[in-house]
Amino acid sequence: MKHYFLLFTLAMVINSFAQTDQKIYDIVDAISEENLRSDVKKLADFGTRHTLSDTVSETRGIGAARRWIKYQFDIISKDCNNCLNVFFQSNFVEKGANQRIVKDVNVVNVVAIQKGTKYPNRYIIMSGDIDSRVTDPNDFTSDAPGANDNATGMAGAMEAARVLSKYKFENSIIYVGLSGEEQGLFGGQGLAKYAKEQNWDIIGVLNNDMIGNISGVDGIIDNRTFRIFSEPITTAETDPKKLANQNRTRRYYGGEIDGISRQLARYVYKTTNTYMPEMNPMLVYRLDRFGRGGHHRPFNDMGFAGLRIMEAHENYTQQHQDIRTENGIDYGDTFEHVNIPYCKKLTAVNAITMASLASAPPSPKEVGIGGIVEASVKLKWSKIEGAKGYKIYWRDTTSPTWDHSRFVEDITEFTLDGIVVDNSYFGVASVGENGHESVVVFPNKILR
Ligand SMILES: [Zn+2]
Repeated sequence: MKHYFLLFTLAMVINSFAQTDQKIYDIVDAISEENLRSDVKKLADFGTRHTLSDTVSETRGIGAARRWIKYQFDIISKDCNNCLNVFFQSNFVEKGANQRIVKDVNVVNVVAIQKGTKYPNRYIIMSGDIDSRVTDPNDFTSDAPGANDNATGMAGAMEAARVLSKYKFENSIIYVGLSGEEQGLFGGQGLAKYAKEQNWDIIGVLNNDMIGNISGVDGIIDNRTFRIFSEPITTAETDPKKLANQNRTRRYYGGEIDGISRQLARYVYKTTNTYMPEMNPMLVYRLDRFGRGGHHRPFNDMGFAGLRIMEAHENYTQQHQDIRTENGIDYGDTFEHVNIPYCKKLTAVNAITMASLASAPPSPKEVGIGGIVEASVKLKWSKIEGAKGYKIYWRDTTSPTWDHSRFVEDITEFTLDGIVVDNSYFGVASVGENGHESVVVFPNKILR
């Protein structure tokens, strides 16, 4: 009895030093290549999943595809005692909404919600896209297998659901297939609006768009690197007075590269480095690729944290292309170009990020900072019920990542002695009893 207790205590101590959770390694291992392979193949085999394509056929078009996806989520739910709430979320878009909506259409998303045990209204969301396209964005009949773009993201969301639904988490997780991406991000807009109406407290959106290509058009083959795109600060604030205030604060105190989406991106980066050190996460300090769009943006537009997870090396001969051979080059986004082991790794990146966030307490709402003309930094934050402590992070102003940290017990203010406020940026995260951490909060208050 005594020995047991000692061993148990020792294990806890070791665990809290290492700050890793065996469950997260198990999740990495549980992601199945076989499932991803057959799901990507199945999605590509619907011929086209163009948003404006046929909805009646059971074998071809976006209607068949979304019914099949919903059916898969239903099966996953059955396997976990109906732990998922699965439904279609439909958004009517009128002909002429933009040049790519050439007829009235219902843009239908498939949503699967795994409710949290402690914070049911806090959601971490993983999205992939249902729809596909060829060269002409309005061609809704030609074969558009969209195997990489974006059957990989969709299959990833389904596989993450299969694995994570075997566990219970304190926060809710949503797995979603969005439609209308290629026609103008309509599915994301619809779901972001729905989330606002439902008062969802969104921890963040992990938008997966193209997570299966390792062979770049630049000749580089790389199955370790992936990109995390995030906007620097939110642009959702439109009140001119508040905007002026924000700009002024950022000018004097910093924060212009520390918005909520950027903190979420750093969280993905850190979690990957901790549990999948063989990977090379690459933080890209921009909303998305140069001049291009993705389904995290409509969530950002509504003030939610969201980012894009994506392969590092794209192949444009396989993106948005009619299937054809020209000058010896095979064009088209077909199944055989997808690298399933890589898709598995990026699916695992999502799954471990969601499992960690879904296990963590909420971030402190308010974080204050002070320390002007002193050789120390004062931090003060609002208490989080259920947190066992907090982690104070800091980094050089030119560093992309939170490189230094200090854990403190359940207190709400702390002074970092010997550190000058001018030369670093600071933030605070809350830490749960289980060791899982919230996203870091950049100070939003100045202490005088
Ligand atoms: Zn695309």
